[in-house]
Amino acid sequence: MKRIAVFPGSFDPITKGHEDIILRAVPLFDEIVVAIGTNSSKKYMYTLERRLEMIRFTFRNEPKVKVDTYLGMTVDYCREVGATHLLRGLRTSADFEFERSIAHINQTLYPDLDTVFLLSLQEYSAINSTIVRDILINGGDATRFVPEGLDLTV
Ligand code: ADP
Repeated sequence: MKRIAVFPGSFDPITKGHEDIILRAVPLFDEIVVAIGTNSSKKYMYTLERRLEMIRFTFRNEPKVKVDTYLGMTVDYCREVGATHLLRGLRTSADFEFERSIAHINQTLYPDLDTVFLLSLQEYSAINSTIVRDILINGGDATRFVPEGLDLTV
């Protein structure tokens, strides 16, 4: 059976933290689907098209990494694509508490799907998309927090 992991998020924009988790998961799975979830009540800085493009650029040399978008519940999407695992990154104990409750609910909704957590690199544990957006909105340079060579043009 093919081991397919879904890595869900909004990736607005993708950061070095996301990239690191995905690259370290590559040897563990046959395929990793980076799945951009769309929430109609949320305002995004980058369009869905730009977010897809940025993720495609980041993993252009990683044939196992695919990019997709979905609406609705993550577990339903996972079932649809035949995912065996849900991949999440952990930065802090607060992340763990939050992720644990979601993973427990997902276990109930889809018992065949296992959530796998990878610990972020210490140097990336403070990075998140909100901080990157704040830097950009204030005219700062966020390039060191995002994948090498990424075009951050909105
Ligand atoms: P987004 O910010 O893209 O909406 P999330 O914050 O939900 O998405 O992140 C998607 C996944 O990436 C989560 O599992 C989250 O823990 C992980 N993640 C985000 N930033 C980092 C980071 N700096 N290091 C490791 N994992 C991270």
